[in-house]
Amino acid sequence: MSENHNTKVVDVLVLGGGIGGLQAAVDLADRDLKILVVEQDTSIGGKMIGLSKVFPTLDCSSCITTPKMAEAAHHDNIEIMTYAELDQAEKGPSGFQVKVRQKPRYVVEKDCIGCRLCEYVCPVQLPDAFESGQGARRAAYIPHSNAYPQCALIDIDNCIFCGRCIKACPTDAIHFSQGPEVIDVRAGAIVIATGYKLTPMDSVKRYGAEKLPNVINPLLMERLIAPHGPYGKVLRPSDGRIPDSIAYVQCVGSRDISMGVPYCSRVCCMYAIKQAILLAGSLPLADVTIYYMDVRAFGKGFETFYQDAKAMGLQFVCGKVASISEDDDHNPIIRVERKEEGGEVVEDKHDLVVLSQGMLPAWNPKGILPVTTETYDFVDVPKKKREPTATTMAGIFVAGTAAGPKDIVDTIVEAGAAAAQASAYLNSTGWIQSTEVS
Ligand SMILES: Cc1cc2nc3c(=O)[nH]c(=O)nc-3n(C[C@H](O)[C@H](O)[C@H](O)COP(=O)(O)OP(=O)(O)OC[C@H]3O[C@@H](n4cnc5c(N)ncnc54)[C@H](O)[C@@H]3O)c2cc1C
Ligand code: SF4
Ligand code: SF4
Repeated sequence: MSENHNTKVVDVLVLGGGIGGLQAAVDLADRDLKILVVEQDTSIGGKMIGLSKVFPTLDCSSCITTPKMAEAAHHDNIEIMTYAELDQAEKGPSGFQVKVRQKPRYVVEKDCIGCRLCEYVCPVQLPDAFESGQGARRAAYIPHSNAYPQCALIDIDNCIFCGRCIKACPTDAIHFSQGPEVIDVRAGAIVIATGYKLTPMDSVKRYGAEKLPNVINPLLMERLIAPHGPYGKVLRPSDGRIPDSIAYVQCVGSRDISMGVPYCSRVCCMYAIKQAILLAGSLPLADVTIYYMDVRAFGKGFETFYQDAKAMGLQFVCGKVASISEDDDHNPIIRVERKEEGGEVVEDKHDLVVLSQGMLPAWNPKGILPVTTETYDFVDVPKKKREPTATTMAGIFVAGTAAGPKDIVDTIVEAGAAAAQASAYLNSTGWIQSTEVS
């Protein structure tokens, strides 16, 4: 790949603007290195900006994430590109030559003042992806109230081209002629922080294959519990009724050889207990049951958190859930082999069921970045004990759940380690620091 005079030169390119990527970026920028964060979504913040509270302290998640987003966004040494992806990357004699594809927002970012007037006049209503498909957003929209940047974009696939947003915009920021742009970047090092996705359930018939409306994923429950969620209360999707009986099914898409995911996803026991505790607070009359094989509460303060949940009256049922079906009112029916009852198979009916889904890597670098992945496609870290964030390619480091399932604290610690290793790598190669990022 040849370099042209428009090439942007940065010290480190951080791929992914979740909590792991942001922490790595800030730690590197504080060392006076110039950082470019490339985030594929319309806002930075990753999964954490959508969580309700965090285990085991029950701190408000967005109250921790938004200051980190602001710190990165306002740091003199950090530039953030959202709605952007890596197209191509290769290692040359002077760092990594990378092509970053900026997708069109159809709104000029520097001109948008975030007034939302375009959103207010847009007649098109669509399911809100930030609210896991609940609530509604417009075709002209700002992703959510904590988003960075607070810049609108147009969902061109669902726009009916009525022109109302263009007329309403006070700064003439909306331009339907915008196209994708490819930006050449040269970076001394790269940190991969592309995070995770939930184990997909759409083809798993025994758990309803996403066809049962009241069997939901845990990220949707995070939004339903969040004070600033889509409805401000927990309602079940089929009929908007407040549920009286809620169940969690553990190890869904983790520790399950039949689904090709034999490993433990490390966070599901704790997020289920967290959500159950929060539900006990917001719906004190509801029964909350957790069906589990064994509870893995391994981190600092986790066992106390688990014992507190039991003391609050939350029910823990040891048994393997075989399948979930529903009755005529869409009440989920769990078929479970209860260990305490000598392995008897029983059917329990609930109003709402949450599948405690496991973690898979969100992105596979194959074909784009020259690093290898492990059996389950998490980025390979061959010398974990000596170089805990070094990948198979010198100069490329990995942090957070892109390298394997982990919680927020471990992600932040790993991001700090990736920043330290990336900066040491630049020193060792005699890299001449960039002065480019504003
Ligand atoms: C339901 C649920 C509840 C949880 N609750 C807690 C809790 O209470 N406490 C706790 O400690 N942990 C909790 N976790 C775990 C927590 O979400 C993760 O530990 C944390 O979000 C990991 O951060 P990350 O930066 O590695 O990944 P992510 O948050 O996934 O961020 C990755 C970012 O990279 C971007 N990205 C992906 N691919 C690309 C690409 N190709 N190019 C550019 N950008 C890309 C994504 O859009 C995203 O913004 C919970 C998890 C779940 C599922
Ligand atoms: S042109 Fe498209 S985005 Fe703008 S208001 Fe009309 S439907 Fe909404
Ligand atoms: S695009 Fe225009 S109308 Fe929409 S938020 Fe930005 S400045 Fe306001």
